[in-house]
Amino acid sequence: MTRESLDLRGPGGPDAAIVGIPDQICYTRAPQTARIDSDSMAKSPLDNAPLDALDNVRVVLVNSAHPGNIGGAARALKNMGLRQLYLVAPREFPAANAIWRAAGAADLLETAVVVDTLEEAVADCGLVVATSARERRIPWPLLTPRECGERAVAEAGTHPVALVFGREDRGLTNEELQACNFHVHIPANPEYSSLNLATAVQVLAYEVRMAALEAQRGERLSYADWDRPPAKASDMELYFEHLQQALAELGFIDPDNPRQTMTRLRRLFSRVRPDDMELGILRGMLTAIQNYIHRTGGKGRPDNASAADGEEG
Ligand code: SAH
Repeated sequence: MTRESLDLRGPGGPDAAIVGIPDQICYTRAPQTARIDSDSMAKSPLDNAPLDALDNVRVVLVNSAHPGNIGGAARALKNMGLRQLYLVAPREFPAANAIWRAAGAADLLETAVVVDTLEEAVADCGLVVATSARERRIPWPLLTPRECGERAVAEAGTHPVALVFGREDRGLTNEELQACNFHVHIPANPEYSSLNLATAVQVLAYEVRMAALEAQRGERLSYADWDRPPAKASDMELYFEHLQQALAELGFIDPDNPRQTMTRLRRLFSRVRPDDMELGILRGMLTAIQNYIHRTGGKGRPDNASAADGEEG
């Protein structure tokens, strides 16, 4: 994975905040703390956990055209106590205009991680949420901004979370949207629903902060009491490649036109959000199917090809 950063990060930079999840991890429900007065809360070492988790929430800006928006996003993040900014192939960065718009948040521009692809930006994330200014053709599991904030805080205690924002002129591509677990839409005026990029970052960063403050007050949310971490985005991509290959060998999809079936399968697995062990089982099943096909020396019949193939462009 190529990863270019401005390299001004100190030991407290974004990567330091992404604490690796141990191989064997058991999630337990966060203790349900009773509501207690704010003075005694301040003394408990656990109470800052929701706000500390904000370090594990990253905002990813894809192909931003205007450096002013990058600066505005940095400012929005810092105002809300977030610190991690990832820039996927920004058109102009570093830039004086970004620093100017960032004002007191220019430090976030120095620690921003610049990568070439969205895949790299979210590879280690267990939860990836894409923002969208409009409804898309294939509906995807959708969160409200409030649910998005709550979920981000609930999960950031255990694994990195990404909120992905699109280009100023055309948002995110279908492929990028389909690489994410959920979509979130800010329910703006339907006649004019597209917010300025930095403003959209501000709204969602605010919701994340509100959820963290709510959790800090005692309504602790945690990643459901599950025994395994969710599969990472990079492992999901490897799984989809493997699935497509096995289904083509099986004769179930047309290798020259796998698109719609794969899109629907992506949506299915994004919704289910398998954990790392479940994904391992699925990969193992695919390998067993492939071994069987290779042993018996044949492809499945082409007329098994899914009816969904070639359905939409
Ligand atoms: N014309 C583009 C709008 C892009 S606005 C389109 O139709 O998709 C730039 C980015 O700001 C979007 O990709 C999204 O990340 C964010 N954004 C703008 N308005 C939003 C809204 N109402 N809800 C969620 N995100 C929004």
